[in-house]
Amino acid sequence: MDRRNIELKIFGLVAGMAAGMILLAGFALTIAARHADTRERDYEQTLVGNGLRQRAKEIQAALNPYIIWDEAIIKLDNRFDPAWASQNIGQSVGGALGNEVVFVLDADNKSIYGHVAGKDVPPTAYARYGGRATRLIEKVREIEADPKKVAELRAVHRSRVTLVGDDPMLITVSLVRPDLKARTRGPRAPLLVTGTPVADSVVKAFSDRFLLHDARIQVVQDTQLATPAAQRVIGKTADGRRIVMRWTPRKPGEELLRSASPILGAALLAAVVGSILLFRTTRRAVKKLLLSEAEAKHLSLHDPLTGLANRTLFTDRLVHAHALLRRKSGLLGVLCIDLDRFKEVNDSYGHDAGDQLIREVARRLKTICRDTDTICRLGGDEFAIIQPDTTPAGAAALAQRVVEGLSGEVDLTIGRAELSCSVGVAVVSDAEQGQAELLRQADVALYRAKEGGRGRYCFFEPEMDAALRLRKGLERDLRTALETEALKVAYQPLTDARGQIIGVEALARWTHPERGEIAPAIFIPLAESCGLIGAVGSAVFRRACYDSLRWSGLEVSVNVSALQLADPGFVDDMVAVLAETGARADVFMLEITETALLKDSDGVHEALRRLKRLGFRLALDDFGTGYASLAYLRRHPIDKLKIDRSFVSSLPGNSESLAVASAIVSLAKSLGLKTTAEGVETQGQLDALIKLGCAEFQGFLLGRPMPADAIGDVIAGARETVR
Ligand code: C2E
Ligand code: CA
Ligand code: CA
Repeated sequence: MDRRNIELKIFGLVAGMAAGMILLAGFALTIAARHADTRERDYEQTLVGNGLRQRAKEIQAALNPYIIWDEAIIKLDNRFDPAWASQNIGQSVGGALGNEVVFVLDADNKSIYGHVAGKDVPPTAYARYGGRATRLIEKVREIEADPKKVAELRAVHRSRVTLVGDDPMLITVSLVRPDLKARTRGPRAPLLVTGTPVADSVVKAFSDRFLLHDARIQVVQDTQLATPAAQRVIGKTADGRRIVMRWTPRKPGEELLRSASPILGAALLAAVVGSILLFRTTRRAVKKLLLSEAEAKHLSLHDPLTGLANRTLFTDRLVHAHALLRRKSGLLGVLCIDLDRFKEVNDSYGHDAGDQLIREVARRLKTICRDTDTICRLGGDEFAIIQPDTTPAGAAALAQRVVEGLSGEVDLTIGRAELSCSVGVAVVSDAEQGQAELLRQADVALYRAKEGGRGRYCFFEPEMDAALRLRKGLERDLRTALETEALKVAYQPLTDARGQIIGVEALARWTHPERGEIAPAIFIPLAESCGLIGAVGSAVFRRACYDSLRWSGLEVSVNVSALQLADPGFVDDMVAVLAETGARADVFMLEITETALLKDSDGVHEALRRLKRLGFRLALDDFGTGYASLAYLRRHPIDKLKIDRSFVSSLPGNSESLAVASAIVSLAKSLGLKTTAEGVETQGQLDALIKLGCAEFQGFLLGRPMPADAIGDVIAGARETVR
């Protein structure tokens, strides 16, 4: 999933959650507020209902003294007295009690007295109000007809609000009853009809009492009775319209909402800010996560030290480039690169210096290669390059650039190191050949480049395979030979000028079960290149130790490879073999080559000093072929120089060789060193060397390398001759 996608998802989630929460809170609050408002309205409606009923009761109660009264029965029913009615009903009920309309009806519901707005009116004026009271009259007469009900009730009243003209009026119909012993003429008593306007002033008093805001009376059609609303139906008109009391309800919920809205707003703001912050942190976290994922991916495909592709990525790219061969016409080149003597840098300067060198190599390779090339560190000091779409000339040019780019001195924090590399190149054009084979071929070519003397590149050629197979087979057989102690040692005599044997040189011999005699010139370098030289040297030394015990007074020379000397465990091994065999160190002359001293490292120097302290003597083998540096001779505790066979073989005729040999002898003399001339094959050579002042000789003329027993015979023979 890509970053944008994840970000969008997270943003959606966060924003959705925030919005959801706010909506929910708002919704809950609104519901609660509306609920509170409804409850308040219901409460107000109940108040209004109760209040109106109360008002009617008050009016009815005020009428009671006038309708429950013997005298009223007598004066209104038994014998109607208009003057009495005017004085006791009109002026009291109308005037004192404040009823605007007062009428008296007889037993037949006929109006017999009227008083409106403070004045007596003709009873016929009742017509204007009669229609409004009909229902109430019927109800009161119904109660009157039921003696049980009449007995229960003290006063019989029925009230309702109705319109008189345009004004709402509370009409009350009351049954006139005796309070003691008066009797009506017939079964029915007179009725008192009163009317009080439910005027605005009344409503106002009412609303003040119940804290109703903006209370008013309205007459509306049924359809206009919007429900629910802050209203109470308090009556009906003759034409069926409703008389309602309306007011502006209190809305505590709404008030709450209003007072809570700043808080809600603040919460909303906080939620918005919070979700933005949350979004930003999650975004950062996602970024980090994706980065670390990319990092992990990079790490899994790259070498952590150099940042170059690792073997996995390399193989991947190689497979890919190889597959492209089917579609494209170009060639695919693979270069295998190996640093020469990297192990020495690591051993003498330490791993940090080794890492530094590797990083420098990577840096240089990056400047050498093109962007389309893949550079890889296969491990250790091995690198490889994939060069897609190339030609043999292009591959050769790149290989040359690599060899040149990775040569010369490199400044490391700890000192300077000499850099050089070997390169193996393989180029393929057809996809039939597998990519693994391509890498193998480059590796074989690299092998050959190293063998051919390092600091160079080599193209793969098919015959290399055969040579390599041979080599691999030989390597395996050498291992077996070491394990089965099949390696033997021959000794070549060293003599003085008279031909007297004064020492021997131990030379390794290997008879291969199928190939027969294999020359040390073949298997010693092989052992060096495959890490077996330590085992070979150790085997020869052990044998030489045992054999040395048989010969007294003979100096035994043993060859030590430069690689052995560089091995930190070498001296300890030598000591261990001495202890194991019981041989003496001072019998031995260790022959080392100049290349062993070339590195001039403290390790080698220390090893030589330790060997000297143990009693070993040291000879410089093949002297004159290498650097022949006087500095080595001064610095290291050398006892002897061995003049290389190449100078000896052209004696005595070659004046140049003669000059070299002469120079070596006088150099040795001036430094107090002995000299041994190697490869003396003719008497002429021997004579020339004796003339130069050389004291020791070695060569076929004086004795070929031979088994230890034969050396014993030579010594015995010599003794006999002397005797
Ligand atoms: P080297 O140390 O120079 O040994 C002397 C070589 O010269 C021997 O060859 C010997 O057989 C040969 N030689 C002696 N006299 C004559 C002569 O008059 N004419 C000719 N043409 N050759 C003569 P070899 O045994 O084949 O050994 C070759 C090289 O292998 C040695 O050269 C030495 O560098 C190396 N080598 C042999 N054995 C060992 C060993 O045990 N350890 C190590 N590190 N190297 C060894
Ligand atoms: Ca030697
Ligand atoms: Ca030699």
